[in-house]
Formats: sequence, structure tokens, C-alpha cells
Amino acid sequence: MLMNFNILKFLVVLCGNIFLIFSQNGQVNSTRLALFCPNTTSYSPNSTYSSNLNALVSSLSSNASTRNGFYNSTAGHTGSDIAYGLFLCRGDVSPDVCQNCVSTASKEILENCPKGKIAVIWYDECLLRYSNRSIVATEDLSGWMDHFLYNNILLIIIVFYFFSTMDEIASVAANENDRSGRKFATKEANFSSLERVYSLAQCTPDLSESSCDSCLRFAIGNLPSDGKKGGRVIFPSCNVRYETYSFYNITAVAPPPPPPVRGTPPPPSISNSASSDGGKGGIASGVIVAIVVPIVVSVLLFIFGFCWLRRRTSRELNVAKDADEISTVESLQYHLNTIRAATSNFSSENKIGEGGFGVVYKGKLPDGLEIAVKRLSRSSGQGVEEFKNESVLIAKLQHRNLVRLLGYCLEGDEKILVYEFVPNKSLDYFLFDHEKQNLLDWSSRCKIIGGIARGLLYLHEDSRLRIIHRDLKASNILLDAEMNPKISDFGMARIFGIDQSEEITRRIVGTYGYMAPEYAMHGQYSVKSDVFSFGVLLLEIISGKKNSAFYQSDGAEDLLSYVWKNWRDGTPLNIIDPTFAESYSRNEVMQCIHIGLLCVQEDVNERPTMESVVLMLNSYSITKRAPKQPAFFFRSQSEMLPIKGLESDQSTSKSIPLSVNEVSITEMEPR
Ligand code: ATP
Ligand code: MG
Repeated sequence: MLMNFNILKFLVVLCGNIFLIFSQNGQVNSTRLALFCPNTTSYSPNSTYSSNLNALVSSLSSNASTRNGFYNSTAGHTGSDIAYGLFLCRGDVSPDVCQNCVSTASKEILENCPKGKIAVIWYDECLLRYSNRSIVATEDLSGWMDHFLYNNILLIIIVFYFFSTMDEIASVAANENDRSGRKFATKEANFSSLERVYSLAQCTPDLSESSCDSCLRFAIGNLPSDGKKGGRVIFPSCNVRYETYSFYNITAVAPPPPPPVRGTPPPPSISNSASSDGGKGGIASGVIVAIVVPIVVSVLLFIFGFCWLRRRTSRELNVAKDADEISTVESLQYHLNTIRAATSNFSSENKIGEGGFGVVYKGKLPDGLEIAVKRLSRSSGQGVEEFKNESVLIAKLQHRNLVRLLGYCLEGDEKILVYEFVPNKSLDYFLFDHEKQNLLDWSSRCKIIGGIARGLLYLHEDSRLRIIHRDLKASNILLDAEMNPKISDFGMARIFGIDQSEEITRRIVGTYGYMAPEYAMHGQYSVKSDVFSFGVLLLEIISGKKNSAFYQSDGAEDLLSYVWKNWRDGTPLNIIDPTFAESYSRNEVMQCIHIGLLCVQEDVNERPTMESVVLMLNSYSITKRAPKQPAFFFRSQSEMLPIKGLESDQSTSKSIPLSVNEVSITEMEPR
């Protein structure tokens, strides 16, 4: 059924292209949306790369009006001096608009990223990118930006609209590769008598169907699904967007008006619907039949041919997919020599920290990319193949609020994970240090809370796998150059081979002070145990106090009791970090404390999901239930005895992989 719909949609868009009769005015001023210009690799002005790059960019620009909106090219002959580049114009724009946009892009990308070997520039109508590595047919999700229109109106219906419509156009765009070579789809739909939603999905046509599909689904997973009236996610390889106004040229993508057929009900409303007057315009019915019958017959023949072709190629596609997977496993693998060279042979000067899973080193790859290398302690029980497979799965999870896993190294006894380097240390470094606390004012803490919530929601709901973090805490929140939070160490339980498929959990991971009581005492974990840890973290961020090392003279035993006591007594603002002074919003702080208390409820069912947390953080007008007394986990340490060895580890703030006598089922399944 879905496939039939996709085929119809394919035809609609194809017809739209065939019957394209309207031309656009080419003089549109392109407004830049974003520039990705990492300063990790640079070239010098008189180098061979520089002249190759200039030649490449001017060849892209001069091909913009003749290449159906997409063109890739290279300049240069030798290894690292070759410049690879491409441009992609939005599927609905005319050659003139495309040319105009690509010319602007060619000029601005070189002006604004003067030394970068790698750059991507995005406009409404086009994107242009180049690199010193081949970029063709490669799914690239780096350097993305999301752009929300903050209309703070809760439109549940839009949220619903997303999951059906965006999914639908993703499939259509991925399947499409029409005569003009595009992978592009749009859709309009009414969601109320007053408003209409317009959505668009597009991939660079060099991607395979499966890469396009996964890129689009990943982009859709990153769209704001919290009632915003519009949103977009743009990657180098694909982009998606929805708005409540028409932001693309409907006449260029719409199907031709349906022929007026007597007695046939008009089709459901689509853009540009033509009026059907039942033949009163004076066209003889014989003429109509002469036009309609051949069209219907050719459409049917086309559908038949298309179905046949799809069935024939689907088996070949599956084989290609398997080959893809194998190449991913290989391409993520780093040689030990590369890692040794990058970290000066794991020198102590390069050591940046040590956690429960091993030592972390800073490193630099030959192309200048900075990395963080986590050298896993050798006690991991994971087999080689499982380790590889899990690392590949985790590397595919990408979100602006997650630390990206770049790859792994497996040689001899060494098991190493290679991450993107996040420059501003971890949240605990600022939060629990008297001198550095004041570097995080209320608005940056708000941004950090929101980012963590979105990252966790992605892990729980929007990514291709459902990942329960199990060790969310301040030291696992890293801060990038703009102090945006990035969750680290997600998926460690999988990579480390801890109870992925067993019905009985044999090992437990977590950190004292953040673990939900049901997890610490019975080993039961679920998305709601992460919600509990998020609640503790949120209250730590607001108060600047560490839950596990909490001490107050007024008799409260831990942070949760302290917050609860003040909430119950009507003095919640007592708990906030004194470094805020007067520069905070009382309303925002109160809302955050309320949400934090809901997250740390003893009863799992009373804790909200991360989806509701994100909604509540975005819209303070949402009614929230009153929190009850939270779980006072620290008061009942004797109850934790089922976990062997916890007593000896409870002073640590590192993850504790522990054995448990008997605990119950876990939730961590591929979708
Ligand atoms: P746990 O093992 O329980 O997660 P932890 O988070 O303190 O404890 P690690 O995850 O091993 O320990 O990290 C140790 C330190 O290394 C962190 O505090 C952080 O400052 C640094 N670090 C880890 N990953 C990165 C990264 N990708 N970029 C920059 N620094 C990092
Ligand atoms: Mg960590």
C-alpha cells in the first residue's frame, strides 16, 4: 500500500517535471543560511591545493545553469592536492535561480572560509561544498545546522503530521531519481481549515537509495517535534524542511492539472488544483477521451514497469547494502600506529582524563583533526566482531548534542574508541568548582539543560536504535566551543558487551548519586532510569551542588531531599546557585525545578518521558502535575545490598560496572 502510494507520488512529481511550463525569475538574492568551515585542515594561499580549489569552484559555478541542479567535479591530479566539490540546487528552482545561487556561493565560500580545505555553504536555493577527500556518493551528516521558527504555539497536529508526512516524503525522495537526476520530494497538506503545511526532502543525487533514506531519516529525527510551526535540518548530503507557508515554487513541483473527467469526483486538495467544470468549457467529450485514455494507459503501463523493475532490483540492492555495511566497518577502523602517532604514543602529556572504562588521551590526526582517544581497559568481555558491530552502530548516531564516535581501533589486546575532540571539558569541571561556577550564568545553564534533554530524547526516541544511556552525569556532558552540551559515553554498555540481549541483566553500569532506585537496587533499567539521572543532573545544574557530595547544615541529607523540602515549604529559590545573583528568570528557574522534581519521582510511571520533558522545557504554559516527595535513595543504602560490591565503590564518581545477583529485563532494541 505504502509502496503504491510512493509510486503514485513518484509519478506525480515526475509528471510535474515533464510538464514543467512555468519559468522562474532568476534574479533572486540568495541569503546564506550557514557556513561550515572547520579550522582543522588548512591550505596556504600559493599552494597547489589553492589553485586546484579555485579552478574547481569556478568550474562548479560555470556549470550551474546546465546541470539540472547538481554537479560534482574534481581539480588536480595528485593525492592530497586534489580538490573535490559539488553543488546542489533545490529541486524546484529554475536553472537561472540555480546559477545565481551557485555563483553567490562560489564567491562567498572562498571569501568566508579563506584557508579551509573543507567547507560547505548553504543557501535557501542551493548548497556548495568542497573537500580534499572524495565526497561523491558518501553520506555526510557533519556540520549540520537546524533552524527553527520559534512560534511558541503547541500544534500537536503538526507533530503528528511529521511522523506520517516527513517519513513519506523521505521515502519518495530516496526512491526518486528521475530523468533530471534529482532525489527530491515535496508535499502539501491541510491540517486545519486555516493552515496548510508544506514539506520538502532532498538528497544529493549521487547517494544510493539506502544512504539517501538513512540521511533523510536521520535529518527528520533531528527536526523539532515539539510543536514548532516550522523547522529544517540541513546536512551536506540531504536536507528536510517543513513550514506553514509555501517556501518552494509550487508551480514547479506540482503535478499538471487533472484533465476534466465527467462524473469523476475531484481529487483531494493538492496545490494548484485546477477547476473542473464538467465540460462546460466547450471541449467535446470525444476530445477528452482522446486525451485521457492514452494518458491513463501510459500511466498504468508505467506503474507496471516500475513495479517490475523495483522487484528485480530490490535483491541487487540488498546485496549492495551488505557490501555497504562491510565497507563501513572497515572505514571506521583506525590503525594502532595512527593512534600512537596521534597521541605521541599515549604520552602522559596527552592524557586528558581517566574514567571507569579507561584513560582518555587527546590526539591529532595527520590531516589536523583533533580527536579524543579512549583506551579501554583490557577487562572488557566483548568479542571482536561484536565490538566492531556495536561501534559502527553507535558511530551512526549523530546529533548536535551527542559526542560523535569517529571510529575504533582493534589490534592485539588494544581496544580503543576514537571520538571527536570537544574543547571545553566537561560540565562538572565548571559546575562544582567555586571559581568556575560563575562562568556558567543562568542563560548558558538553560541552554545546557535544553541541549541535554534533546540529546537524550534523540537517544530514546528518534535515533535508529533505542539507546538507554545508563550513566548520565555531569562528567559525561562535554562542552563545545560555544558551550553547547554534548552527551558522551552513550552506548558504552553495548560496546562493552554488557547485557545486550540477555533477559537477566548480569552487570550494572552507573554512577552513585545519579542512578534511579529501581536500577541501583534491582538492576531494572529503562528510559525512565535515564529520566531520573536527567532530573538529578538538572537539579545539580540549577543548584551548582553535587548530589553525591551534598552537605547542608539544615539537616537535609542529599540534594533531592533539600530541593523537595524547599519546594514543599514554598522556598524553591533557596536552592539556586548563589552565583546567579539577580540575573535569572524566576519563572524559568521555578519551571526547571518543577520538571527536575518530576523526573526524580520514586514511581517510574510518575516520571515524564524525555519527549514530555522537552515539551515542558519549551512551553512553560503546559500544565504539569504536582511533584510528590522524590525517591530518597541515599537514605536507604542498606536496600542496595543486592548489588555486590557497591559499598566499596560508592565513593567514586566513575562508572561502576558491577555484578548483580539477579535483575530483570532491559530495553535496548534496534527499531
Ligand atoms: P566515566 O568513565 O564514568 O564516564 P568520566 O566521564 O569521568 O567517567 P571518561 O569518560 O573516561 O571519564 O572521561 C575522562 C575525561 O576525559 C572527561 O572528564 C573529559 O574531560 C575527557 N574527555 C572524554 N571524552 C572527551 C572528548 N570526546 N573530548 C574531550 N575530552 C574528553
Ligand atoms: Mg565519561
